[in-house]
Amino acid sequence: MTTTRFAPSPTGYIHVGNLRTALMNYLIARKAGGTFILRIDDTDPERSKEEYVDAIKEDLEWLGLSWDRVERQSERLDRYAEAADKLREMGRFYEAFETPTELDLKRKKQLNMGKPPVYDRAALALSDAEKDALRAERGQGVWRFKLDQERIEWTDGILGDISIDAASVSDPVLIRGDGQVLYTLASVVDDTEMGVTHVVRGSDHVTNTATQIQIIQALGGTVPNFAHHSLLTGPQGEALSKRLGTLALRDLRERGVQPMALLSLMARLGSSDPVELRTEMAELIDGFDIGRFGSAPTKFDVEDLFPLTARYLHDQPLEAVADTIAKVGVPDDLAAQFWNVTRENITTLHDLDGWWHLFRDGADPVIDEEDREFVAQAMAMLPEGPFDGDTWSTWTAQVKEATGRKGRGLFMPLRKALTGQSHGPDMSAVMPLLQVVKARG
Ligand code: GLU
Repeated sequence: MTTTRFAPSPTGYIHVGNLRTALMNYLIARKAGGTFILRIDDTDPERSKEEYVDAIKEDLEWLGLSWDRVERQSERLDRYAEAADKLREMGRFYEAFETPTELDLKRKKQLNMGKPPVYDRAALALSDAEKDALRAERGQGVWRFKLDQERIEWTDGILGDISIDAASVSDPVLIRGDGQVLYTLASVVDDTEMGVTHVVRGSDHVTNTATQIQIIQALGGTVPNFAHHSLLTGPQGEALSKRLGTLALRDLRERGVQPMALLSLMARLGSSDPVELRTEMAELIDGFDIGRFGSAPTKFDVEDLFPLTARYLHDQPLEAVADTIAKVGVPDDLAAQFWNVTRENITTLHDLDGWWHLFRDGADPVIDEEDREFVAQAMAMLPEGPFDGDTWSTWTAQVKEATGRKGRGLFMPLRKALTGQSHGPDMSAVMPLLQVVKARG
């Protein structure tokens, strides 16, 4: 059965980059009728925070990316210890004692000699007595996985055929000196034991994948299908990494972005399929194909989310927004009329506030000098409220009659006087919502 997972480390809020990973894994699982696991990668007790675990769940719920179960790496440490023992027994695991400074020096020397900065495996030559001495002096060493120095190959779901020479990669550290199991090992144990069949993640993990394939094989697991999506860049192709902090999902939510707008964009951005606004998750699932994605960096412009949000809202029925409209303060009996008028004239639901404020308190009238007398005359003819759907046509017909003005010269000054704007909703629909008319003077 198809099983995927989204595996965030709870060390911060998730952003559009993480969303891409979450969404692709979610869509693959749902399209195949499989399982989508939310895996919390919390083996780092210092940096992992419970508040981020909650925030990650909240963000995914907001998007409607439902998971079938949650797994937490911090609750599986005994599994990782067992795997580590197995690797030790097989002779694929060795203890190394170099300090970070020593490793740095080695790297610099290698680079100076024009060699790739790969760990030289000096620790493999240590005798037991030497290890004891080092342990006494420096404490526990780190544990490295001994890579088989051959080419590691796989067919990537996005990048195609990949071949990496293991000799060009350092033996990965899987357990730190303080005993902390690192992600590389924990992830492999989890993916194997949880039957994960597809792993989609960012292309910054490609080298990781190479080493993980060997670890999976050493532990007797089945290698999942890997796919690595390209990294997101800003609209001009600039690195996004520094700005991702401002592209947290919760910030987008706060700015009024609609989940389906965000999902519609992210399910297609970087693929050869066009971005199409979907209003239902089922459509998104149906129309998803990971094979359509390319390896080139993907340009992301946060501004693209707003027209999509506007279009999404435009087609929403009153029921979908009734709560928000009530919160804005619109009385129930005006809600339907209010939504009809505003739905085409908002970008996000935040704009509803401004519209209701305008209808409730009256707009500051905009009156051009040459229209001053005309507007005064028209306002004197405006009936007492409450207005209804006929008020606009009846009134403007009378004003036309009395002043001889017609067309734009008739309607525009009155629109500007009543709404303070030269664009906006159909005035016949606006009139019944106007509670106060400031232009009456
Ligand atoms: N916790 C890892 C990360 O956030 C997971 C990577 C993976 O999908 O294996 O980078």
